[in-house]
Amino acid sequence: MTQERMVRAMSTDETPFGVATVRARTSWPSRIVTFAAVAGPPLALLPIMGLLWGVAVRPVDVALLVLMYVVCGLGISVGFHRYFTHRSFETRPWLKATLAILGSMTLQGPVTQWVTDHRKHHALSDQPGDPHSPHTDHHDGWIGSVLGMWHAHVGWLFRTKGMERGDHYGRDLYADSVVRAVDRLYLLWLALTFAIPFAIGYATGGGSVALGLQALIWGGVLRVFLFQHTTWAVNSVCHRFGSRAFPTRDESRNNLAIALMTFGEGWHNNHHAFPASARHGLLRGQFDLSAHLIRLLERCGLVWDVKVPDAAALSRRARSLAAPNVELEPPTRTGA
Ligand SMILES: [Zn+2]
Ligand SMILES: [Zn+2]
Repeated sequence: MTQERMVRAMSTDETPFGVATVRARTSWPSRIVTFAAVAGPPLALLPIMGLLWGVAVRPVDVALLVLMYVVCGLGISVGFHRYFTHRSFETRPWLKATLAILGSMTLQGPVTQWVTDHRKHHALSDQPGDPHSPHTDHHDGWIGSVLGMWHAHVGWLFRTKGMERGDHYGRDLYADSVVRAVDRLYLLWLALTFAIPFAIGYATGGGSVALGLQALIWGGVLRVFLFQHTTWAVNSVCHRFGSRAFPTRDESRNNLAIALMTFGEGWHNNHHAFPASARHGLLRGQFDLSAHLIRLLERCGLVWDVKVPDAAALSRRARSLAAPNVELEPPTRTGA
């Protein structure tokens, strides 16, 4: 348990902790073990790709992996997250449908399920009921840290995913005919996410089924696995490792590595401080590809009403970090 959480807990009606059992912060051995446990599974993908490299790979396979990772990934960051969850901007029905389809092709669940889970995360972040917090319902010590990170990374998919579907956090989505139509065809988008790389590999390989399957492995299976883990790392790593620029009532962190792999989603402390902002890389030098795409779409007249906090709002929020008992202030929740 971190010092901030201690301060917060001790400021409320919660039962005070026994002093002898409370650490000021997680120990370094605990952090290292936790990091290894979380980084291990995604890094294991790299040797698999290394084994195939030079043996079963063509330039078109790599191009498909990169292109589909970026395009479908932006469907999650710009579509599922910034548009459908937080309504950071407005857009036309055809672009809305496109973003929903691209996000669905990452295999992270239908729009309604993804969004309701994520809205619940914001409503209860790092409190009991948060679907994927690494800090709740776990034991203390390094074992508890690892279990918490495991739960936040993949364990929650088997325990708390999809619990709110259609109930409290997503009524607007069920009232949206575009969302309902895209969700009804979810299995089609799943089939397409593998059929597209297979078809391109098959066509560019002179009608070879083997080369089609090879493209499916690179542009389909490995691409989906890589993006799944980088997205899950926002839930696990970005609630434990990184820096905090703004005070929030959770453990959200800004993490450069995760931000680069998720097109800006790793600026997660910024995001919890300003949930409705279309830009997550709010500070100097924080690259945010999703925000650049939204800006480009805005210039083309395809999106409008783009929400971004002004300099005064950023300054007010950042300054409060230095104030005493800042963790006791009510959270600013401009989004869902
Ligand atoms: Zn979060
Ligand atoms: Zn969010």
